[in-house]
Amino acid sequence: MSGAKPLPPVDDDTRAWWEGLHRGVLLLQHCRACGSVQVYQRAMCGCCLGGDLEHREASGEGTIYSFSTVYRPPSAEFKDDVPYTVVLVELSEGPRMLSTLVDMAPDAVRIGQRVQIVYDRVTEAITLPRFRPLASSATTP
Ligand SMILES: [Zn+2]
Repeated sequence: MSGAKPLPPVDDDTRAWWEGLHRGVLLLQHCRACGSVQVYQRAMCGCCLGGDLEHREASGEGTIYSFSTVYRPPSAEFKDDVPYTVVLVELSEGPRMLSTLVDMAPDAVRIGQRVQIVYDRVTEAITLPRFRPLASSATTP
């Protein structure tokens, strides 16, 4: 299906994140020292540089902070996907993460739209987090 597309590398810093997504769980790193919550996964806190981090399950819900619709595929592997919308989602827990939007026409996307995560298993090793409109706040054109 999408086997030819580039896939993110999994390393020791990000393994828990990918394993969580594989199980249908979005894990965020919480810093025990300063309380910061971060995406993406790192060996240290991006705020205080401390190393005392723990994973906590996130709600998987958030709000579209910004978006851009891609009409020209970045490479040949994506030619069947355009147009698609890249979204910067502000998670309910605070941090923002980049993803793509599904189940919504590009011209219906609005900043402030409530979204929820969907788990797109693209290979046995990689499940990508994508977002779709929250059913309760979906707008019909
Ligand atoms: Zn910290």
